[in-house]
Amino acid sequence: MKERALSGEWITLDARGEMRVPSNPNIGFIEGDGTGPDIWAATRPVLDAAVLKAYGGEKKIHWFELLAGEKAVKEAGDPLPQKTVDLIRKCVVAIKGPLTTPVGSGMRSLNVTLRIVLDLYACIRPVRYFPGIPSPVRHPERVNMVVFRENTEDVYAGIEWESGSAEADRFARLLLDNFNVTLPAKSGIGVKPISPGGTKRLVRRAIAYALQRGLPSVTLVHKGNIMKYTEGAFRKWGYELAKEEFAESTVTEDDVQEVHGGKAPEGKVVIKERIADSMFQQVLLRPEEYSVIATPNLNGDYLSDALAAQVGGLGMAPGANVGDEAAVFEATHGTAPKYAGLDKVNPGSLILSGAMMLDHLGWVEAAKLIHEAIERTIGDGIVTYDLARQMKGAKEAGCSSFGRAIIEHMN
Ligand code: NAP
Repeated sequence: MKERALSGEWITLDARGEMRVPSNPNIGFIEGDGTGPDIWAATRPVLDAAVLKAYGGEKKIHWFELLAGEKAVKEAGDPLPQKTVDLIRKCVVAIKGPLTTPVGSGMRSLNVTLRIVLDLYACIRPVRYFPGIPSPVRHPERVNMVVFRENTEDVYAGIEWESGSAEADRFARLLLDNFNVTLPAKSGIGVKPISPGGTKRLVRRAIAYALQRGLPSVTLVHKGNIMKYTEGAFRKWGYELAKEEFAESTVTEDDVQEVHGGKAPEGKVVIKERIADSMFQQVLLRPEEYSVIATPNLNGDYLSDALAAQVGGLGMAPGANVGDEAAVFEATHGTAPKYAGLDKVNPGSLILSGAMMLDHLGWVEAAKLIHEAIERTIGDGIVTYDLARQMKGAKEAGCSSFGRAIIEHMN
Protein backbone atom coordinates (compact mmCIF):
# COMPACT_ATOMS: atom_id res chain seq x y z
CA MET A 1 0.00 0.00 0.00
CA LYS A 2 1.54 3.25 -1.14
CA GLU A 3 0.60 5.31 1.92
CA ARG A 4 3.77 7.40 1.73
CA ALA A 5 2.34 9.25 -1.23
CA LEU A 6 -0.80 10.33 0.65
CA SER A 7 -1.12 14.08 0.59
CA GLY A 8 -4.87 14.55 0.69
CA GLU A 9 -7.41 14.49 3.50
CA TRP A 10 -9.71 11.68 4.58
CA ILE A 11 -13.43 11.64 3.90
CA THR A 12 -15.26 11.33 7.22
CA LEU A 13 -18.76 10.35 8.35
CA ASP A 14 -20.67 12.54 10.79
CA ALA A 15 -22.85 11.26 13.65
CA ARG A 16 -25.79 10.75 11.27
CA GLY A 17 -23.59 8.81 8.86
CA GLU A 18 -23.48 11.66 6.30
CA MET A 19 -20.22 11.99 4.35
CA ARG A 20 -18.04 15.06 4.79
CA VAL A 21 -15.95 15.30 1.65
CA PRO A 22 -12.84 17.52 1.68
CA SER A 23 -11.78 19.20 -1.56
CA ASN A 24 -8.68 16.96 -1.70
CA PRO A 25 -9.94 13.49 -0.63
CA ASN A 26 -7.73 10.41 -0.42
CA ILE A 27 -9.44 7.78 -2.54
CA GLY A 28 -8.22 4.20 -2.82
CA PHE A 29 -8.15 2.25 -6.05
CA ILE A 30 -7.76 -1.47 -6.75
CA GLU A 31 -6.43 -1.95 -10.26
CA GLY A 32 -7.85 -5.45 -10.58
CA ASP A 33 -6.65 -8.53 -12.46
CA GLY A 34 -6.51 -9.35 -16.17
CA THR A 35 -7.59 -6.25 -18.10
CA GLY A 36 -8.06 -4.34 -14.81
CA PRO A 37 -4.77 -2.39 -15.20
CA ASP A 38 -5.70 -1.50 -18.83
CA ILE A 39 -9.08 -0.05 -17.93
CA TRP A 40 -7.79 1.68 -14.79
CA ALA A 41 -4.99 3.35 -16.80
CA ALA A 42 -7.66 4.70 -19.19
CA THR A 43 -10.10 5.67 -16.42
CA ARG A 44 -7.96 7.62 -13.98
CA PRO A 45 -6.99 10.43 -16.42
CA VAL A 46 -10.67 10.84 -17.40
CA LEU A 47 -11.74 11.28 -13.77
CA ASP A 48 -8.88 13.70 -13.06
CA ALA A 49 -9.58 15.72 -16.21
CA ALA A 50 -13.30 16.02 -15.37
CA VAL A 51 -12.55 17.20 -11.82
CA LEU A 52 -9.98 19.72 -13.09
CA LYS A 53 -12.32 21.05 -15.74
CA ALA A 54 -15.30 21.27 -13.39
CA TYR A 55 -13.50 22.93 -10.46
CA GLY A 56 -10.41 24.58 -11.99
CA GLY A 57 -8.01 23.03 -9.47
CA GLU A 58 -10.13 23.77 -6.35
CA LYS A 59 -10.87 20.07 -5.97
CA LYS A 60 -8.52 17.19 -6.63
CA ILE A 61 -8.57 13.46 -5.87
CA HIS A 62 -5.47 12.06 -4.14
CA TRP A 63 -5.35 8.49 -5.41
CA PHE A 64 -3.61 5.69 -3.57
CA GLU A 65 -3.35 2.08 -4.51
CA LEU A 66 -4.98 -0.73 -2.52
CA LEU A 67 -3.66 -4.21 -3.06
CA ALA A 68 -6.07 -7.02 -3.94
CA GLY A 69 -6.15 -10.02 -6.25
CA GLU A 70 -3.14 -11.44 -8.07
CA LYS A 71 -0.97 -8.38 -7.39
CA ALA A 72 -1.66 -8.71 -3.66
CA VAL A 73 -0.76 -12.41 -3.73
CA LYS A 74 2.56 -11.49 -5.36
CA GLU A 75 3.38 -8.58 -3.06
CA ALA A 76 1.75 -9.58 0.22
CA GLY A 77 1.02 -13.32 -0.09
CA ASP A 78 -2.72 -12.76 0.41
CA PRO A 79 -5.38 -11.94 -2.23
CA LEU A 80 -7.20 -9.61 0.15
CA PRO A 81 -4.87 -8.28 2.86
CA GLN A 82 -6.58 -7.03 6.01
CA LYS A 83 -4.82 -3.71 5.45
CA THR A 84 -6.77 -3.24 2.20
CA VAL A 85 -10.08 -3.81 3.99
CA ASP A 86 -9.05 -1.41 6.80
CA LEU A 87 -8.00 1.25 4.30
CA ILE A 88 -11.27 1.03 2.35
CA ARG A 89 -13.06 1.70 5.66
CA LYS A 90 -10.67 4.56 6.34
CA CYS A 91 -11.12 6.24 2.97
CA VAL A 92 -14.94 5.58 2.91
CA VAL A 93 -14.95 5.65 -0.92
CA ALA A 94 -12.92 3.39 -3.23
CA ILE A 95 -12.96 2.20 -6.83
CA LYS A 96 -11.94 -1.17 -8.21
CA GLY A 97 -11.33 -3.09 -11.39
CA PRO A 98 -12.46 -6.72 -11.78
CA LEU A 99 -10.82 -9.49 -9.73
CA THR A 100 -10.29 -13.10 -10.73
CA THR A 101 -12.25 -15.81 -8.96
CA PRO A 102 -10.47 -19.16 -9.48
CA VAL A 103 -13.16 -21.69 -10.47
CA GLY A 104 -13.43 -24.79 -8.28
CA SER A 105 -10.58 -23.75 -5.96
CA GLY A 106 -12.90 -23.53 -2.99
CA MET A 107 -11.80 -19.91 -2.61
CA ARG A 108 -14.66 -17.50 -2.06
CA SER A 109 -14.90 -14.67 -4.62
CA LEU A 110 -12.97 -11.61 -3.48
CA ASN A 111 -15.86 -9.45 -4.62
CA VAL A 112 -18.27 -11.36 -2.39
CA THR A 113 -15.79 -11.26 0.50
CA LEU A 114 -15.45 -7.47 0.19
CA ARG A 115 -19.23 -7.07 0.19
CA ILE A 116 -19.57 -9.19 3.30
CA VAL A 117 -16.72 -7.84 5.40
CA LEU A 118 -17.59 -4.22 4.63
CA ASP A 119 -21.36 -4.90 4.80
CA LEU A 120 -21.90 -3.27 1.40
CA TYR A 121 -25.58 -4.11 1.40
CA ALA A 122 -26.77 -2.17 -1.65
CA CYS A 123 -25.61 -3.04 -5.14
CA ILE A 124 -26.50 0.01 -7.21
CA ARG A 125 -26.59 -0.22 -11.01
CA PRO A 126 -27.70 2.80 -13.05
CA VAL A 127 -28.82 1.86 -16.57
CA ARG A 128 -29.07 4.50 -19.29
CA TYR A 129 -28.60 4.59 -23.01
CA PHE A 130 -25.87 6.40 -24.94
CA PRO A 131 -27.12 7.29 -28.45
CA GLY A 132 -25.30 5.37 -31.16
CA ILE A 133 -24.65 2.20 -29.17
CA PRO A 134 -26.13 -0.87 -30.85
CA SER A 135 -29.07 -2.25 -28.90
CA PRO A 136 -31.39 -5.24 -29.40
CA VAL A 137 -34.52 -3.14 -28.72
CA ARG A 138 -36.25 -0.43 -30.78
CA HIS A 139 -36.28 2.31 -28.13
CA PRO A 140 -33.30 1.87 -25.81
CA GLU A 141 -33.39 5.64 -25.11
CA ARG A 142 -36.53 5.06 -23.03
CA VAL A 143 -34.51 3.15 -20.44
CA ASN A 144 -33.26 5.30 -17.58
CA MET A 145 -33.34 3.30 -14.37
CA VAL A 146 -31.29 2.68 -11.27
CA VAL A 147 -31.46 -0.81 -9.76
CA PHE A 148 -30.94 -1.13 -5.98
CA ARG A 149 -30.25 -4.81 -5.42
CA GLU A 150 -30.04 -6.15 -1.87
CA ASN A 151 -26.56 -7.56 -1.59
CA THR A 152 -26.33 -9.68 1.56
CA GLU A 153 -29.44 -11.87 1.93
CA ASP A 154 -31.72 -14.13 -0.11
CA VAL A 155 -30.48 -17.36 -1.72
CA TYR A 156 -27.07 -15.66 -2.02
CA ALA A 157 -26.51 -15.88 1.73
CA GLY A 158 -24.52 -19.08 1.09
CA ILE A 159 -26.62 -21.28 3.41
CA GLU A 160 -26.80 -24.47 1.37
CA TRP A 161 -26.04 -28.17 1.59
CA GLU A 162 -25.08 -30.60 -1.14
CA SER A 163 -27.31 -33.47 -2.20
CA GLY A 164 -26.48 -36.57 -0.16
CA SER A 165 -24.36 -34.72 2.42
CA ALA A 166 -24.81 -35.45 6.11
CA GLU A 167 -25.96 -31.83 6.61
CA ALA A 168 -28.60 -32.05 3.89
CA ASP A 169 -29.89 -35.34 5.33
CA ARG A 170 -30.00 -33.85 8.82
CA PHE A 171 -31.86 -30.77 7.61
CA ALA A 172 -34.35 -32.93 5.66
CA ARG A 173 -34.96 -34.98 8.82
CA LEU A 174 -35.46 -31.83 10.86
CA LEU A 175 -38.13 -30.67 8.39
CA LEU A 176 -39.88 -34.00 8.49
CA ASP A 177 -39.77 -34.43 12.28
CA ASN A 178 -40.70 -30.86 13.20
CA PHE A 179 -42.77 -29.54 10.31
CA ASN A 180 -44.12 -32.67 8.61
CA VAL A 181 -42.44 -31.57 5.38
CA THR A 182 -41.11 -34.30 3.07
CA LEU A 183 -38.44 -33.33 0.55
CA PRO A 184 -37.69 -35.40 -2.58
CA ALA A 185 -34.93 -37.92 -1.80
CA LYS A 186 -31.37 -36.60 -2.05
CA SER A 187 -32.45 -32.96 -2.41
CA GLY A 188 -29.76 -30.34 -2.38
CA ILE A 189 -30.98 -27.65 0.01
CA GLY A 190 -30.59 -23.86 0.05
CA VAL A 191 -32.06 -21.39 2.54
CA LYS A 192 -33.53 -18.02 1.53
CA PRO A 193 -33.40 -15.54 4.41
CA ILE A 194 -34.93 -12.07 3.92
CA SER A 195 -35.14 -9.86 7.00
CA PRO A 196 -36.99 -6.65 7.89
CA GLY A 197 -33.68 -4.93 8.74
CA GLY A 198 -31.99 -5.98 5.49
CA THR A 199 -35.01 -4.94 3.43
CA LYS A 200 -35.60 -1.62 5.13
CA ARG A 201 -32.02 -0.36 4.90
CA LEU A 202 -32.03 -1.09 1.15
CA VAL A 203 -35.41 0.54 0.51
CA ARG A 204 -34.42 3.52 2.68
CA ARG A 205 -31.37 4.08 0.47
CA ALA A 206 -33.42 3.71 -2.72
CA ILE A 207 -36.06 6.23 -1.62
CA ALA A 208 -33.42 8.70 -0.37
CA TYR A 209 -31.65 8.41 -3.75
CA ALA A 210 -34.90 9.15 -5.63
CA LEU A 211 -35.67 12.13 -3.39
CA GLN A 212 -32.18 13.64 -3.64
CA ARG A 213 -32.29 13.49 -7.42
CA GLY A 214 -35.94 14.44 -7.93
CA LEU A 215 -36.76 11.07 -9.51
CA PRO A 216 -40.46 10.15 -9.91
CA SER A 217 -40.79 6.63 -8.46
CA VAL A 218 -39.37 3.68 -6.55
CA THR A 219 -40.68 0.27 -7.62
CA LEU A 220 -40.47 -2.71 -5.23
CA VAL A 221 -39.87 -5.77 -7.41
CA HIS A 222 -40.66 -9.08 -5.71
CA LYS A 223 -42.09 -12.55 -6.21
CA GLY A 224 -44.35 -12.30 -3.18
CA ASN A 225 -47.29 -14.05 -4.82
CA ILE A 226 -45.35 -17.31 -4.49
CA MET A 227 -42.75 -16.73 -1.74
CA LYS A 228 -45.02 -14.95 0.70
CA TYR A 229 -42.82 -14.77 3.79
CA THR A 230 -39.61 -13.75 2.03
CA GLU A 231 -40.35 -11.84 -1.19
CA GLY A 232 -43.88 -10.95 -0.03
CA ALA A 233 -42.42 -9.69 3.23
CA PHE A 234 -39.88 -7.62 1.26
CA ARG A 235 -42.85 -5.84 -0.36
CA LYS A 236 -44.62 -5.37 2.99
CA TRP A 237 -41.53 -4.05 4.78
CA GLY A 238 -40.73 -1.77 1.83
CA TYR A 239 -44.15 -0.11 2.08
CA GLU A 240 -43.84 0.05 5.87
CA LEU A 241 -40.49 1.83 5.63
CA ALA A 242 -41.87 4.37 3.14
CA LYS A 243 -44.75 5.11 5.53
CA GLU A 244 -42.63 5.20 8.70
CA GLU A 245 -39.78 7.36 7.42
CA PHE A 246 -40.93 9.12 4.24
CA ALA A 247 -44.65 9.72 4.80
CA GLU A 248 -44.42 13.39 3.75
CA SER A 249 -42.40 12.80 0.61
CA THR A 250 -43.87 9.58 -0.84
CA VAL A 251 -47.25 8.40 -2.05
CA THR A 252 -48.32 4.87 -3.01
CA GLU A 253 -49.43 4.12 -6.55
CA ASP A 254 -52.84 3.04 -5.17
CA ASP A 255 -53.28 6.42 -3.46
CA VAL A 256 -52.31 8.21 -6.67
CA GLN A 257 -55.30 6.50 -8.30
CA GLU A 258 -57.77 6.48 -5.43
CA VAL A 259 -57.02 9.77 -3.67
CA HIS A 260 -55.27 11.99 -6.21
CA GLY A 261 -57.28 11.28 -9.35
CA GLY A 262 -54.48 9.47 -11.19
CA LYS A 263 -51.87 12.26 -10.93
CA ALA A 264 -49.04 12.06 -8.40
CA PRO A 265 -48.81 15.16 -6.15
CA GLU A 266 -45.94 17.47 -7.18
CA GLY A 267 -42.56 16.53 -5.68
CA LYS A 268 -43.67 13.20 -4.18
CA VAL A 269 -41.98 9.92 -5.02
CA VAL A 270 -44.52 7.27 -6.05
CA ILE A 271 -43.97 3.88 -4.41
CA LYS A 272 -44.97 1.13 -6.83
CA GLU A 273 -44.66 -2.63 -6.75
CA ARG A 274 -44.38 -5.22 -9.47
CA ILE A 275 -44.14 -9.00 -9.48
CA ALA A 276 -40.67 -9.91 -10.79
CA ASP A 277 -41.74 -11.87 -13.88
CA SER A 278 -44.10 -9.12 -14.98
CA MET A 279 -41.32 -6.58 -14.39
CA PHE A 280 -39.17 -8.27 -17.04
CA GLN A 281 -42.00 -7.58 -19.52
CA GLN A 282 -42.55 -4.07 -18.24
CA VAL A 283 -38.93 -2.98 -18.72
CA LEU A 284 -39.14 -4.12 -22.34
CA LEU A 285 -42.60 -2.76 -23.11
CA ARG A 286 -42.92 0.37 -20.93
CA PRO A 287 -39.46 1.23 -19.57
CA GLU A 288 -40.28 4.94 -19.34
CA GLU A 289 -42.66 4.19 -16.43
CA TYR A 290 -39.82 3.02 -14.17
CA SER A 291 -37.07 4.97 -12.47
CA VAL A 292 -35.57 3.57 -9.24
CA ILE A 293 -36.03 -0.15 -8.57
CA ALA A 294 -35.54 -1.81 -5.16
CA THR A 295 -35.41 -5.59 -5.14
CA PRO A 296 -34.03 -8.66 -3.35
CA ASN A 297 -30.69 -10.13 -4.36
CA LEU A 298 -31.58 -12.74 -7.01
CA ASN A 299 -34.19 -10.62 -8.84
CA GLY A 300 -31.72 -7.74 -8.84
CA ASP A 301 -28.95 -9.87 -10.27
CA TYR A 302 -31.09 -10.96 -13.23
CA LEU A 303 -32.79 -7.63 -13.77
CA SER A 304 -29.65 -5.48 -13.79
CA ASP A 305 -27.95 -7.65 -16.43
CA ALA A 306 -31.12 -7.81 -18.56
CA LEU A 307 -31.43 -4.03 -18.42
CA ALA A 308 -27.74 -3.59 -19.28
CA ALA A 309 -28.30 -5.78 -22.37
CA GLN A 310 -31.23 -3.58 -23.37
CA VAL A 311 -28.95 -0.53 -23.61
CA GLY A 312 -26.01 -2.27 -25.30
CA GLY A 313 -24.36 -4.67 -22.87
CA LEU A 314 -22.15 -4.89 -19.81
CA GLY A 315 -19.22 -3.06 -21.42
CA MET A 316 -20.84 0.27 -20.55
CA ALA A 317 -22.64 -0.70 -17.33
CA PRO A 318 -21.38 0.93 -14.13
CA GLY A 319 -22.00 -0.27 -10.61
CA ALA A 320 -21.31 0.27 -6.93
CA ASN A 321 -21.57 -1.70 -3.72
CA VAL A 322 -22.57 0.64 -0.96
CA GLY A 323 -22.99 0.29 2.80
CA ASP A 324 -23.30 2.70 5.72
CA GLU A 325 -19.54 2.88 6.27
CA ALA A 326 -18.05 2.53 2.80
CA ALA A 327 -18.81 2.51 -0.91
CA VAL A 328 -16.85 0.61 -3.55
CA PHE A 329 -17.43 1.57 -7.19
CA GLU A 330 -16.58 -1.09 -9.75
CA ALA A 331 -16.57 -2.28 -13.34
CA THR A 332 -19.45 -4.74 -13.65
CA HIS A 333 -17.75 -7.06 -16.15
CA GLY A 334 -15.01 -9.58 -15.33
CA THR A 335 -11.27 -9.59 -15.95
CA ALA A 336 -11.50 -10.65 -19.65
CA PRO A 337 -8.04 -12.27 -19.25
CA LYS A 338 -7.47 -13.05 -22.94
CA TYR A 339 -7.24 -9.30 -23.63
CA ALA A 340 -4.98 -8.47 -20.64
CA GLY A 341 -2.25 -5.97 -21.50
CA LEU A 342 -3.47 -5.47 -25.08
CA ASP A 343 -4.89 -1.99 -24.43
CA LYS A 344 -8.00 -3.15 -26.25
CA VAL A 345 -11.05 -3.58 -24.03
CA ASN A 346 -13.75 -1.05 -23.32
CA PRO A 347 -13.02 1.02 -20.19
CA GLY A 348 -16.58 2.47 -20.27
CA SER A 349 -17.90 0.50 -17.32
CA LEU A 350 -15.12 1.64 -14.99
CA ILE A 351 -15.19 5.23 -16.30
CA LEU A 352 -18.94 5.41 -15.71
CA SER A 353 -18.48 3.84 -12.26
CA GLY A 354 -15.97 6.61 -11.62
CA ALA A 355 -18.58 9.17 -12.70
CA MET A 356 -21.01 7.52 -10.29
CA MET A 357 -18.38 7.86 -7.58
CA LEU A 358 -18.00 11.59 -8.31
CA ASP A 359 -21.78 11.94 -8.09
CA HIS A 360 -21.69 10.10 -4.73
CA LEU A 361 -19.09 12.61 -3.49
CA GLY A 362 -21.46 15.41 -4.48
CA TRP A 363 -19.18 16.41 -7.37
CA VAL A 364 -22.09 16.29 -9.79
CA GLU A 365 -20.62 18.81 -12.25
CA ALA A 366 -17.62 16.56 -12.91
CA ALA A 367 -19.86 13.49 -13.26
CA LYS A 368 -22.03 15.37 -15.78
CA LEU A 369 -18.98 16.35 -17.82
CA ILE A 370 -18.03 12.68 -18.18
CA HIS A 371 -21.51 11.63 -19.27
CA GLU A 372 -21.69 14.42 -21.84
CA ALA A 373 -18.19 13.70 -23.16
CA ILE A 374 -18.95 9.96 -23.54
CA GLU A 375 -22.13 10.86 -25.39
CA ARG A 376 -20.18 13.09 -27.80
CA THR A 377 -17.35 10.56 -28.25
CA ILE A 378 -19.76 7.76 -29.15
CA GLY A 379 -21.76 10.23 -31.23
CA ASP A 380 -18.57 10.76 -33.29
CA GLY A 381 -18.41 7.00 -33.81
CA ILE A 382 -15.30 6.53 -31.61
CA VAL A 383 -15.71 3.26 -29.72
CA THR A 384 -13.71 0.21 -28.63
CA TYR A 385 -13.72 -3.11 -30.54
CA ASP A 386 -16.73 -4.59 -28.74
CA LEU A 387 -19.02 -1.84 -29.99
CA ALA A 388 -17.17 -1.19 -33.26
CA ARG A 389 -17.91 -4.74 -34.44
CA GLN A 390 -21.62 -3.98 -34.23
CA MET A 391 -21.63 -0.37 -35.50
CA LYS A 392 -21.48 0.71 -39.14
CA GLY A 393 -18.81 3.32 -39.85
CA ALA A 394 -17.34 3.19 -36.34
CA LYS A 395 -13.79 4.42 -35.73
CA GLU A 396 -12.26 1.71 -33.54
CA ALA A 397 -10.19 2.99 -30.64
CA GLY A 398 -8.01 1.12 -28.17
CA CYS A 399 -8.70 1.23 -24.44
CA SER A 400 -6.45 4.20 -23.62
CA SER A 401 -7.24 6.10 -26.83
CA PHE A 402 -10.97 5.79 -26.08
CA GLY A 403 -10.19 7.37 -22.69
CA ARG A 404 -8.19 10.15 -24.36
CA ALA A 405 -11.01 10.77 -26.83
CA ILE A 406 -13.41 11.25 -23.90
CA ILE A 407 -11.05 13.85 -22.40
CA GLU A 408 -10.82 15.63 -25.76
CA HIS A 409 -14.61 15.65 -25.99
CA MET A 410 -14.86 17.43 -22.64
CA ASN A 411 -13.76 20.61 -24.39
P1 NAP B 1 -15.56 -11.45 -18.44
O1 NAP B 1 -14.23 -11.22 -17.89
O2 NAP B 1 -16.58 -10.39 -18.17
O3 NAP B 1 -15.39 -11.64 -19.99
C1 NAP B 1 -16.32 -12.26 -20.85
C2 NAP B 1 -16.34 -11.56 -22.18
O4 NAP B 1 -17.05 -10.32 -22.03
C3 NAP B 1 -14.99 -11.16 -22.76
O5 NAP B 1 -14.35 -12.22 -23.39
C4 NAP B 1 -15.40 -10.06 -23.70
O6 NAP B 1 -16.13 -10.57 -24.83
C5 NAP B 1 -16.47 -9.34 -22.88
N1 NAP B 1 -15.89 -8.27 -22.04
C6 NAP B 1 -15.66 -8.28 -20.70
N2 NAP B 1 -15.15 -7.11 -20.31
C7 NAP B 1 -15.08 -6.34 -21.39
C8 NAP B 1 -14.65 -5.01 -21.65
N3 NAP B 1 -14.18 -4.23 -20.66
N4 NAP B 1 -14.70 -4.54 -22.91
C9 NAP B 1 -15.16 -5.31 -23.91
N5 NAP B 1 -15.59 -6.56 -23.75
C10 NAP B 1 -15.55 -7.07 -22.51
O7 NAP B 1 -16.20 -12.81 -17.89
P2 NAP B 1 -15.50 -14.20 -17.59
O8 NAP B 1 -14.54 -14.55 -18.72
O9 NAP B 1 -16.63 -15.09 -17.28
O10 NAP B 1 -14.70 -13.99 -16.24
C11 NAP B 1 -13.30 -13.80 -16.16
C12 NAP B 1 -12.90 -13.61 -14.70
O11 NAP B 1 -13.50 -12.43 -14.18
C13 NAP B 1 -13.34 -14.76 -13.78
O12 NAP B 1 -12.29 -15.06 -12.88
C14 NAP B 1 -14.51 -14.17 -13.02
O13 NAP B 1 -14.68 -14.75 -11.75
C15 NAP B 1 -14.09 -12.72 -12.91
N6 NAP B 1 -15.23 -11.78 -12.70
C16 NAP B 1 -15.00 -10.74 -11.86
C17 NAP B 1 -15.99 -9.79 -11.66
C18 NAP B 1 -15.71 -8.65 -10.71
O14 NAP B 1 -14.59 -8.51 -10.26
N7 NAP B 1 -16.70 -7.83 -10.40
C19 NAP B 1 -17.22 -9.90 -12.33
C20 NAP B 1 -17.41 -10.96 -13.21
C21 NAP B 1 -16.40 -11.90 -13.39
P3 NAP B 1 -15.51 -10.98 -26.26
O15 NAP B 1 -14.67 -12.18 -26.02
O16 NAP B 1 -16.74 -11.26 -27.06
O17 NAP B 1 -14.73 -9.84 -26.81
